[in-house]
Amino acid sequence: MLKANYSFERQVKTFTHAEVIVIGGGPAGTAAAISAARCGKKVLLLEKSAQLGGMGTLGNVSVFMPVGNVTGIYREIIQEMLEENLLPEHNHSIAPQYSPFLLRHYLNEKMKKEQVQVCFHCEFIGTIQEGSRIRAVIVSTREGLKAFEGERFIDCTGDARVAIDAGVPYHTGREEDGLTQPMTLMFTMQNTGKTVTPVLPEGCYDYENEADLPQGRRLYWEQHNDGTLLVNMSRVKANGAIMEDVNYAEMEALKQVFSIAYYLQKTGFETYALAHIAAQTGVRETNQINGRYTLTEQDVVDGVQFADVVAQTNYEIDIHSPNAEKTTDERKVSGYDIPYRCMVPEAFDNLLVAGRPISATHVAMSSMRMQATCYALGQAAGVAVAISLDDSSPLNDISINKLHNILERQGVKFIGK
Ligand SMILES: Cc1cc2nc3c(=O)[nH]c(=O)nc-3n(C[C@H](O)[C@H](O)[C@H](O)COP(=O)(O)OP(=O)(O)OC[C@H]3O[C@@H](n4cnc5c(N)ncnc54)[C@H](O)[C@@H]3O)c2cc1C
Repeated sequence: MLKANYSFERQVKTFTHAEVIVIGGGPAGTAAAISAARCGKKVLLLEKSAQLGGMGTLGNVSVFMPVGNVTGIYREIIQEMLEENLLPEHNHSIAPQYSPFLLRHYLNEKMKKEQVQVCFHCEFIGTIQEGSRIRAVIVSTREGLKAFEGERFIDCTGDARVAIDAGVPYHTGREEDGLTQPMTLMFTMQNTGKTVTPVLPEGCYDYENEADLPQGRRLYWEQHNDGTLLVNMSRVKANGAIMEDVNYAEMEALKQVFSIAYYLQKTGFETYALAHIAAQTGVRETNQINGRYTLTEQDVVDGVQFADVVAQTNYEIDIHSPNAEKTTDERKVSGYDIPYRCMVPEAFDNLLVAGRPISATHVAMSSMRMQATCYALGQAAGVAVAISLDDSSPLNDISINKLHNILERQGVKFIGK
């Protein structure tokens, strides 16, 4: 008979101790680690895969969507990797495409320069708590389970994994039914210069026209200088934090990728071969913490400003149909602030959540989820934990003045402040 639960008790060796432990090495996590290290803190970055960059490398997203304020560590990345896109002022919009392979290498080198210790193949599995503090995280490593002790923790897992394990309340997807935005497996094709024979593997779909495509549209970026085509056209109804959904999505999205490539080869891209498929199907939305403040659609639409601003964006409301219908709700916004409080879970003194799972409604997160915004949130979280260490203050009670001053010293500018 199936036993409903098991208790699981182990003695786990402590691997190391750091002042700041960042869990998840995507846009939010890499920026958080860099900014905390720049404040002189010993920082450890735990990443479950073999690469930094999150969806921007693992998911092959490869475009930085415009956010209207090119600032801080995100600006540095553009300057150091994609300088031709940079304008002197901060308040402008750019949407540079990049190589996810180069970004992966760039971030590795950047972490070395910034003296951030990176641990790959380290998957967070649980928190060890003492009252309102997290004392350590238990991590599955290539050497088995290990404990990592820290003073401050920043959850940048994209799914609020650490916060949820610690018991922080959260919500998922649309308020009315919990459905999240669908998943998409990104891929690239390469212009070979000669006609290729289209291949449709067994079990795939033979789309006859645009209306048959999973998104009912063609969505891709052509790079004429090197003949690559970045394709964002698959769509699978799934929540990337639910096992059964992910099991389905990984297989269904791959079928769609082959089918879309075949369709494109017959309709305008006759010389393009399938070149690269992302290692995993991209996740747009899973969990949002219920933090000290929840960013709402009204805030986004009204262009609200906050005294404790930590990121600014004018990226549109962009909701790929959670039912995986062939629609996308796209609405322009003029620009708004994201407050520090969206990253602060109520019940913990030494935990922040940065990146896409901050406290926000379904509609608000559809706009704030872009990479540049996640870099900005991560950078602010890294500075915040450093201040909280220096001042021995809980993370929900740090000086916002200090936060803004240090961010400014790190190259962050807020428009209109
Ligand atoms: C298909 C798709 C297209 C998109 N298009 C664009 C676009 O064109 N431009 C744009 O700017 N943005 C785009 N986005 C959005 C953007 O990529 C993400 O919202 C952004 O990367 C989120 O950053 P993050 O750091 O919060 O999380 P993520 O990028 O998801 O990074 C989280 C990291 O944490 C790691 N992690 C997760 N769990 C654990 C664990 N238990 N232990 C250790 N590590 C863990 C993951 O491996 C990952 O490296 C797109 C997203 C998708 C899915």
